[in-house]
Parts: sequence; C-alpha cells; structure tokens
Amino acid sequence: MTNSPTVHLIGMGGIGMSALAKMYLSMGYWVQGSDVKKNEILCELEKMGAKVLIGHEEGHVSGANLVVYSSSIAREHPERSAALRQGLRLIHRSEALAQFCRGKYTVAVTGTHGKTTTTAMVGMILKEAGRDPSVVVGGVVHFFGGNACIGEGHEMVIEADESDASFLNFSPNLEIVTNIEEEHMDHYKTLDAILGAYESFVQKLPPEGVWLGCGDDFFVRQIAARNLRPAILYGFNSELCQIYATDVVECPQGERGVSFNAWQNGHKLGAVRMRLIGRHNVLNALAALGAGLRLGVSFQTAATALGKYQGAGRRFDVCYEDERFMVVDDYAHHPTEIEQTLLAAKGLGRKRIVAVFQPHRYTRTQALLEKFGGSFSSADKLFVTDIYAAGEAPIPGIAGQTVCEAVREAGHPDVSFVERFHLAPVISSEMKPGDLVIVLGAGDVSQVAAQIASALKAQVFSEIRGKVLQKEPLSRHTSLKIGGPIDFWIEPEDWQDLRKVLEVCRKENLKVHLFGGGNNLLAPEEGLKGVGICLNAPAFRKILLKDGVISAGAGTAGSLLIQFALEHGFGGCEFLSGIPGCVGGLVAMNAGSHGESIDALVRSVTLMDWEGHTRILLKDQIPFSYRSSGIKEGILVEVEFALPKSTDAQTLQKLDEYHQYRQKTQDLQHPSAGCMFKNPNIPGCSSGQLIDQAGLKGKRIGNAQISEKHANFIINLGGASSQDVLALIREAKLAVKEKFDVDLEVEVKIL
Ligand SMILES: Cc1cc2nc3c(=O)[nH]c(=O)nc-3n(C[C@H](O)[C@H](O)[C@H](O)COP(=O)(O)OP(=O)(O)OC[C@H]3O[C@@H](n4cnc5c(N)ncnc54)[C@H](O)[C@@H]3O)c2cc1C
Repeated sequence: MTNSPTVHLIGMGGIGMSALAKMYLSMGYWVQGSDVKKNEILCELEKMGAKVLIGHEEGHVSGANLVVYSSSIAREHPERSAALRQGLRLIHRSEALAQFCRGKYTVAVTGTHGKTTTTAMVGMILKEAGRDPSVVVGGVVHFFGGNACIGEGHEMVIEADESDASFLNFSPNLEIVTNIEEEHMDHYKTLDAILGAYESFVQKLPPEGVWLGCGDDFFVRQIAARNLRPAILYGFNSELCQIYATDVVECPQGERGVSFNAWQNGHKLGAVRMRLIGRHNVLNALAALGAGLRLGVSFQTAATALGKYQGAGRRFDVCYEDERFMVVDDYAHHPTEIEQTLLAAKGLGRKRIVAVFQPHRYTRTQALLEKFGGSFSSADKLFVTDIYAAGEAPIPGIAGQTVCEAVREAGHPDVSFVERFHLAPVISSEMKPGDLVIVLGAGDVSQVAAQIASALKAQVFSEIRGKVLQKEPLSRHTSLKIGGPIDFWIEPEDWQDLRKVLEVCRKENLKVHLFGGGNNLLAPEEGLKGVGICLNAPAFRKILLKDGVISAGAGTAGSLLIQFALEHGFGGCEFLSGIPGCVGGLVAMNAGSHGESIDALVRSVTLMDWEGHTRILLKDQIPFSYRSSGIKEGILVEVEFALPKSTDAQTLQKLDEYHQYRQKTQDLQHPSAGCMFKNPNIPGCSSGQLIDQAGLKGKRIGNAQISEKHANFIINLGGASSQDVLALIREAKLAVKEKFDVDLEVEVKIL
C-alpha cells in the first residue's frame, strides 16, 4: 500500500507509547498499534493517520518492519512473542525513544515523583526561549497539545522511566534526578539495586556532563556525594544547594499558585510566580530553572515560562471550581505524592478536604501499606475504593478495605470504604458547600472526578430556558447517524439565552461545538467533551422579507428558504435544492453545487461572537472560499439574502432538473454526509471519479461503504462506527495518492 516502513506499537493507547506513535507519524512512518480497548488517545492517533487494532492477536504484527513494546508488555504477550518468532525487529519503548534522541542534545528527567511536571517545565522554558525543542512526557500537557511535541530544534527533553531501569537505554547530555524512593521493588528487590541503577544513569552522562539533583532528597545527596559526575543541587537549603528558593508563599493574595524567590550561588536571580500549587512544585521548577540556565536561557525567560505553565493532565487537574465547590483530579498514588498533593490542596483554604483514593496494583498496595497509613492526614474526610489491578492478579488479604484499616489505625478520624461503582453518587450526596473534593489514583478513578464535575456543571445551566440535554447521543443529530454522547446538548430559546449559554461556557471553560442540521459532520464513537449548541428553537427559524431582502434565522431549513423565495417571486437558490442543512450550516460551509455556491446570494450575516456581542458582517467582510465561509469568531445567527427576481416557471424547471440529477447520481437511500472529499483543484476532475478509478467503489469496512452509486459518498449500511468511516477515508486517500499522486482533502468536518 505504501513504501514507508511500518511500525507496530503494542499497547499504543498508553501515554508513553502514543507519544512514540506521534513521533513515528511525524517522520512519515506508516503507524499501527494495538490495545485492549479504545480510548481518547487512540482516537486522536486515528485522526492523525494511525491504524488502531483492538485486542491483542499474533496476526497484528505481520507486515511490520519494526515492533515496539512497552514495559507493561510481558515476554509471553501474543504480539511480542509472534514478532520474536517471525524474526521482526523488536525493541523496547525506551530504545525507540533513544533512537529519536540520537544526534540531539538530550535532557533526561528521572526520579520517583515529579518527572512529568519537570520535563514539561524544561520544555516550556526552551520553547519560551525560542528553541523549538522536542519534548516527550508521560502525561498530557495542554500547552504542547498532548504528550509529545516534535520540534525542529537541537534539544530533546524526555521523561526517563526508572521503574524497570529502562532509563539506562538513554545517553543524555544533561540529567535531572528529582528524588529517589523505595519503589518498583518487584523489579529492583533491594534499595541498593535502586541506588545502583541511578548511579549507572548518572554515569551515562559524557565525562564533561553535569546533572541536577534535588538537594532536599537524602538518596540524591548520597549519589551526588559519590562524585560520579559533577552535580548541581537545587532545593530549599541555601547552604547545600547551588540553586535554591526562599520566601515561598502558597496561594499569594488568595490566588491558586505559589511564588518564591530564586537564587544561584548566593546571587538573587529574581521572583517566580507559578500557577501550580505546592512546595513540591517549587522543587520541580528549580530543577527546570537549573536546566534552563545551564542551556543558556536567561532567568527572566525561564521565570516567564514557569509562570505560564498550567500543569499536565491529572496533575492537580481542576475539573470544576466555583465559590461552593472545587473538584480536582490527581494522579498521585504513592504515599509521598499523596501527602504532598493533599498538603498543597490544604493551602487553598477551602473549608474541608474530601479525598477519594483508589489504590494502584496489589503488589504496590502490599509493599506500601504502612506508609499509606499516615499519608492522608491533610484530608478531613477520606473515601477509599477497590484496588485498580492494572492487569495484576489479586493478592489474598490485600484490598481497598486493608488500606482503609491502615489509615484508620494511623489515627485518621473519618475514613470509609466505598465500592468503585458507587463512588460518584456517594460522594455527590456527601458534598457540602466549601468542599474541595480531590480524587487520587493512577487508575480509572479519574472518571469519578469527571462524573462529579459533570453533575455540578449540569447545575450551571439551570438558568437556561431552552432545551438542555446531558450525554445526548450525537448519532441523533448527524445525517451519518454516527456519534457517541456529547456532555451537553443545548438548544437556546432565543438570542438572550444563547448569550447566557456562551457566558456559562466561558466561565466554566467548556468547549463549544456548533451544530446546524448535522449533514456535514463525522462525530466520534466515544462522544465529545463540551457543549453542542444547535439553533433549533423557533426564534432562530424566522424568515421574513423586508425591502426586497430575505432575512432568515440560522436555524431555518435550506428547503424552507427555497420555498419562501419561490413564494415571493425570487430565484437564484435552486442549486441549493437537495443540499440538506440549515441556513447557518449552509453559509458556514459555503454550500454549493452545479458550479454555484451560497456566497453569491449572501448580503450580510449577523454574528454573535464568543463573548456574546452581536455584529453585522457585510458580504465583502466574509472570507468565503470553496466550501468555507472562513468565519471562526462566533456563531451565525441570522443571514440576509439578496436574491434575483425570477418567474415561477423558470425556478420550478430548474428545481426539477436538479432534483432529478441528484436522484440519478447520489445514494440517498443510506445515511451519509454527502461528498466526503473536496474536489481537487484540477479542471474536469472530481474526487468521486478518482476514488472510482482507484477501484474503491463498493469497498466496505465494518458497516461503512464507499457508495456503489457515487464514489465520493461514504454510506452507513447500519451500525457503522466513526472508525469504519475513518478507515475508509484513509484507504481512499492512500489509493488516490498512490495511483494519481493527488492529495484528497476531507470536506466533512471530523469532530
Ligand atoms: C445527501 C447529502 C448531499 C449533500 N450534497 C451537498 C452538495 O451538493 N453541496 C454541498 O456543499 N454540500 C452538500 N452536502 C453537505 C451538507 O449538506 C452541507 O455541508 C451543509 O452546508 C451542511 O449544513 P448543516 O446545517 O447540516 O451543517 P452542519 O453539518 O451541522 O455543520 C457544518 C459546519 O457548519 C458549522 N455551523 C453550523 N451552524 C453554524 C452556525 N449557526 N454558525 C457558525 N457555524 C455553523 C458547524 O460547526 C460545522 O463546522 C450534502 C450532504 C448530504 C447528507
């Protein structure tokens, strides 16, 4: 199918593996990968062009030139062992990442806690300095748009995993060791083995290489004292550390954040103010600052970057916040992380801290049971739930209740066990105004934070007069009949109501998706986060004639516009006949056919911007182009049309002609989104012809099919998924590129 090498990633839905997938994609590899079930990460990769295989089967690896596996993929895994048997090139994730690092100046960040945050901060500092680094982190960093950012610059900043000693596969130029604790004992067995691995890591530096280590950490200091490579210590102790912080203020002026003064060798560098909270994040910032200074970035630039850093996904991720409640999702699952995170949360000064904890893995719970006992003292109330197994077999006598017992025995006054399934309703019913609810754990407990936040958000739309639906399936609102639930589906009652919806979305930081008739949309199976706004209420469907100008609300059906024009002696919009959609969607897409498009008929549009202000744009102010109005700054609420006069007979004849043409050429029996691809900019050439000549007419994947009647239509034969459609899109693009060297561009909006 393609000349590019194929790389297969086992466990591609994981945070580390997906970062690699993105890097391979960026280098033009044909990327495929498997995982047990579909998740958001895999959907994103699919959109980027990767092939997603669900389930693990030997056959998945055949045809791959390179197979990459992560630490959680055992030797006996069917795909790993098949690759070995077939003699395919098989490498660990860290070896793959090490290959990307070759020829780059590599900054590797390791340690038991704080790796993701510190790695992201170093990346931010270099970006702020205009260096365009590549950054690979073990979490989702919103600023980078994910877990990997691929830059053109010389520097590569990576999070190096110490858990199975795979960090020894790297040969960094600069290292950061944030802290060292007794963890991952299943791999290391003894503390000496852990320290030995860190020592070897430090020795991976070139002889002139330098590393930064946290001077507040006993074991880091111990390694630094061995002088294997020169160490720069950072921390709170000015006697011991070269880079240090003083005057730490948590939540300065009541704002979520932390500020401190930064120093280097007795010289004051200046003040840093961050949006993250907690002293542990001051240490992470000092490490990143030290790396930045070492790489020639000025203090001011580094401080600016640190001030902008908003955190990574699941690292004190605030899912909901108002005067009454705050709901936070955090990845902390080790006792030290839990203790620090709760301490930082306490600094926010809410009345009560309600912690929810899901222990991670049976082995870890067993090994750390005693330490868990004392790590929740900052929480006023604690709920512990079942252990998240992460593929492990249960250990008799180790369960969520065991952790509960350990915490109670350590003296906690209010701790109870709640089964995972009941968590969200139990917590919602126990919440009181003034609560900060913090959900802790590395497993699926983050869904609980989302559920509680979503219930609270539903309340925020209580003033909306129009229709507000939660978890509304998008398959009900798309012509393809595909799409999972959207958090909120809102049909505002009128302009005032729409303004209010936008205000709430801004305040609650909810993403807005606009829907017209849904005839040009492909919605994902997993659904969408945020709010779908549809102007379907009567106030948006008014159509009237004044001074020879037809004015139509954005929700008016296109067919109604044609009929209204006809009744009032106007023509010119016959080409719209059979193009399903409402006025807002038709204008937004600059819909057209038979060589005509709607921009020719538009006189002006009324737009409501995201702030709720309305303004009128005259036709010349709208950057219309082929199948786009180019309007991004808001919602079309009303459109004025200037139509030519026409006799009934002329209009009716044209309408009949166009209607018959559509019946003859298009598949109108099955759900579709009309033409899937824009026509290429080649005279006399259509996408449908190219797909047809590439031999794909009738091609079926799952329950989606390239129509037999019109090769530019992808139809839903019944029960098709968005993945089926995406796979056909990919096939068509590849086949047309290969055969005609033409890049097909998707016309349908993929949400
Ligand atoms: C059988 C069939 C045949 C088709 N034939 C044609 C054809 O010949 N020519 C053609 O051009 N298209 C065709 N289409 C595609 C589709 O009809 C058009 O793209 C139409 O413009 C979609 O309108 P809609 O209201 O359904 O918009 P939607 O599909 O709901 O939305 C399309 C885009 O418009 C945006 N949008 C919607 N409402 C607003 C608003 N009020 N303000 C700002 N943005 C908004 C949406 O966010 C989205 O990005 C066909 C579709 C089908 C199913």
